This record gives sequence, C-alpha cells and structure tokens, in this order.
Amino acid sequence: MRRAGNVVAKALDMVGENIHAGMTTAELDTIIEDFLRSHGAVPAFKGYHGFPASACISIDEEVVHGIPGKRVIKEGEIVSVDLGSIVDGFYGDSARTFAIGEIDESRRELMEWTKKSLQAGIDKARKGNKLGAISSAVQQVAESRGYGVVRDLVGHGIGRNLHEEPQVPNFGSPDDGPVLATGMVIAIEPMITMGTYRVKTLPDGWTVVTADGQPSAHFEHTVAITDNGPDVLTLA
Ligand code: MG
Ligand code: MG
Repeated sequence: MRRAGNVVAKALDMVGENIHAGMTTAELDTIIEDFLRSHGAVPAFKGYHGFPASACISIDEEVVHGIPGKRVIKEGEIVSVDLGSIVDGFYGDSARTFAIGEIDESRRELMEWTKKSLQAGIDKARKGNKLGAISSAVQQVAESRGYGVVRDLVGHGIGRNLHEEPQVPNFGSPDDGPVLATGMVIAIEPMITMGTYRVKTLPDGWTVVTADGQPSAHFEHTVAITDNGPDVLTLA
C-alpha cells in the first residue's frame, strides 16, 4: 500500500508542476494516466462504477468526481485533483487542490484551512481513539473558520479495494464509530466549502457541486494506523 500511495503522491507532484491555465481537464487527465502507467500503477478510478477517466478533476464550485473533458482551466480558479492507483492489488488514494496562477484571498484561505483540517484528522488517527475523533477534529477546524463540511460524501477504509469499511465522515462526535486499531488503513478526505455544505450531483451522474455555487476544496491522504501513530502512505 505504501508503494501504491507513493505513486499517487508522485503523480500529484507532477500535476503541481504541469497544471496551468489554458489546458483542458481532459489534457490533464491524459498526462496523469500516462504517469501512473509508466510508474507501474493501474489508474484505480478508470472504469470504477463506469467512471470514464483516470482522475477526478473538480474546478471551483465542483466539489469532487468532476469528469475530465473540454472544460478549460482558468487563472484564478482552484482545481481539485483526486487520484487512485493500484499496485500489485493494493490501492492508494489521495487528493490535492491546486491554485491556478494568482487566486483571491478567500480561495487561498479555503485551501489552507482544508489542508489544516486534514492534518488535524490525521493527528487523531491513533490506536485506541474512536474513528469519530478524526471526524470531529476535521469538523472543528473547518467550522472554526465558518466553512461548510460536506455531509453527503465521506472518507473510507482502503486496502485491496478502493472503498472499504468503515466510512470516515468529516463531521461527528469523538465518541462515534469503531475503535481504531493497528493495521487499519483509511482515506481521510475533507471536502470543505466556502458557503453551504449542501451539494448536488449534475445530470452527468458524477460531478458533485456546491448547492450555492461557491468554491470548495478537497485534500486527502491514505493513512495507516500503527503502534507508533499515524503513517501517511500517500507521500512522495
Ligand atoms: Mg480520492
Ligand atoms: Mg477517497
């Protein structure tokens, strides 16, 4: 799983170096797929429940599951790129939101605090804690800035499948859910919005957007629970 996570992290680093205004999301998806395959990984999302591409690419008001296509990435937007890989039957899953050129202060802060909320969740991914300790930590950090925490989509267990039990919500009480134990691996993935936490799915059946059209950000890591604390597997 560390190898699968490592490829995803390197692919996201590559995205950071190559994403730019003027390219389409389909063009970005192509270089991501080439990168994964040339590094010995299978794109985990391609064909998953019929998803047609290797990456989910979601711009501004798109929260997650954006289908790469003709939409052109523009200066001032924030673009969430979510990637999964399979290496020798094991999965890695990670997402980052990228700034395109100069972005306004409100988008910059949304990205920064979404990343902070993920880190707060990771810090609670310790054996003996309830799963809800992660959920609660993410929610507190995000809501402390007045942001919305998406309810309709959650993180998940991960291993020989992309999505396994348990669900990992980004909201809740520290007393919720199962007790975390060494050997569990989970994907923690706050989806944080500038306005309402309510979302809707577009007629394409995939793209999830904020109900009020305001921007959102998404950061995700695959994290193992170990005797020595959280071990982030999706690092380059
Ligand atoms: Mg993901
Ligand atoms: Mg995930």
